[in-house]
Amino acid sequence: MANYKYGKFLNQSDNAAFDRVTDPGHEAPHSGIYRCEGCGENIVSTYGHRLPPQNHHQHNQAQGSIRWRLIAATH
Ligand SMILES: [Zn+2]
Repeated sequence: MANYKYGKFLNQSDNAAFDRVTDPGHEAPHSGIYRCEGCGENIVSTYGHRLPPQNHHQHNQAQGSIRWRLIAATH
């Protein structure tokens, strides 16, 4: 889970970019914080750089594969 102290520094957005799930090892579609859909681990990536690969961290069988979802975007 990502944490913050001052909500005034964040804007809520309904942009479809937050609904997209990107496979590990693929280029980040935006700069920002990404959350693993399987376990909730967060990482930071920048636009065009590769997201961490499938062996970035361990999942149990119920958690499935690593899939990255943008949860906070920077401009
Ligand atoms: Zn994970």
